[in-house]
Amino acid sequence: MNTDFSTNFVRSPAALREHPALVLNADFRPLSYFPLSLWPWQEAVKAAWLDRVQIIAEYDVTVRSPSTEIRLPSVVVLRDYVKPARMAAFTRFNLFLRDEFTCQYCGSRGEMTFDHVVPRSRGGRTTWENVVASCSPCNLRKGNKTLKQSGMRLRQPAMRPSPEQLQNVGRKFPPNFLHDSWLDYLYWDAELDA
Ligand SMILES: [Zn+2]
Repeated sequence: MNTDFSTNFVRSPAALREHPALVLNADFRPLSYFPLSLWPWQEAVKAAWLDRVQIIAEYDVTVRSPSTEIRLPSVVVLRDYVKPARMAAFTRFNLFLRDEFTCQYCGSRGEMTFDHVVPRSRGGRTTWENVVASCSPCNLRKGNKTLKQSGMRLRQPAMRPSPEQLQNVGRKFPPNFLHDSWLDYLYWDAELDA
């Protein structure tokens, strides 16, 4: 079975707008909390047809083909348990999630950018341990200085989170909690250059 199920949630955001199905793992927990694991109804119907999922709830909406009529699934459960990834992917979105969309210098929320704790010009690498979410003013203030030179402090050490830690942070955000500035990242799962 394809274990990288998470990528299925981000391929066609437009198709998710109407009647998406919530996808649960075989243990009845959402496959992903944030972004919430959703499939377009077409995929949910197909997966049910292939007996890969069990439908446990439906919308009050039917679609017809010449030969049959089906109600759209609203919740489906995978037949086979998908093991969570062993390592959290190093993506922009996961990094924002680790830092809870909060500037790691001043604690403000809202529009975020990234800051290299050890600046790239000083050999700082693009890794979990050296990149943090930062607001623009803090990013500007820190510039090419080291932490010590800037006199700024990290609210918590930058570390690689476990997939469980990321899931736990994701639970703090209700499903429809979408800040405008995050939208680009919600559907962007490419890895950052390491
Ligand atoms: Zn800040």
